[in-house]
Amino acid sequence: MARRLAAAQRVTVVTGAGVSAASGVPTFRGAGGLWREHRAEELATPEAFRRNPCLVWEFYAWRRERVAGCRPNPAHEVLARWSRRLPGFTLVTQNVDGLHEAAGTRELLRLHGSLWQLRCTAGCPASPAAWEDRRVPLPELPPSCPHCGALARPAVVWFGEPLDPAVLAAAVRATACDVLLAAGTSAVVWPAASLIPEAARRGAFTVELNPEPSAMAGAMDAVLAGPAEELLPELDRRLAP
Ligand code: NAD
Ligand code: ZN
Repeated sequence: MARRLAAAQRVTVVTGAGVSAASGVPTFRGAGGLWREHRAEELATPEAFRRNPCLVWEFYAWRRERVAGCRPNPAHEVLARWSRRLPGFTLVTQNVDGLHEAAGTRELLRLHGSLWQLRCTAGCPASPAAWEDRRVPLPELPPSCPHCGALARPAVVWFGEPLDPAVLAAAVRATACDVLLAAGTSAVVWPAASLIPEAARRGAFTVELNPEPSAMAGAMDAVLAGPAEELLPELDRRLAP
């Protein structure tokens, strides 16, 4: 595996919530996937927000508070180092926690947005499409747009919403690679998961890094069973000359 990585001109890594598990960020489908009595998948939807914006905002306020106390772990650190050292490297993440950014990752494609950005629900033309607000706790819940006063929403992609077409297009371009690593993702959320078969179709060697087999495990060229925060540093050590 390390030999293949060392020989690869273009490496693309797709990450999911499992990469942040060791930092203390709860995954959606693992233990801790519940908030109060709600499943995360039921709150992270446009319908839930229309029905009860306060409840959805309370959920996001709780996630922001959880994540604000979390630091990047060795998995984020190795990927950030690769992003600075390997010329043909792209990191595509489904995570919204900001930990890849905190580790200093370059060439990061955020498929699902960020917990640290907000957007105006009225599509406020006066404001940028999304603005950063890192305050924890937020001074008002639900927060409003600083320009027009309409309800603000988290600038994350909810279940059932389309991805930013430019980000998705860049991620699809990155599937033209020699090695694709899928780390810490259950590979059930589309279209993120489709990047894996797309890379395989284009001839990439595909590798999974996950303590449990993902939905795509059977279609991978190699499966490394274990936590990303151990496997990535191990690969990194073997890559070092
Ligand atoms: P998921 O919760 O569906 O799956 C997490 C995966 O990580 C599982 O396959 C699990 O076996 C694996 N895992 C657990 N511990 C691990 C470890 N130490 N190392 C490697 N793998 C480990 O997550 P997903 O596939 O990212 O999909 C969930 C969706 O929810 C995404 O769309 C994402 O945007 C969102 N989400 C994001 C965060 C975050 O930003 N950290 C957290 C929860 C959910
Ligand atoms: Zn507005």
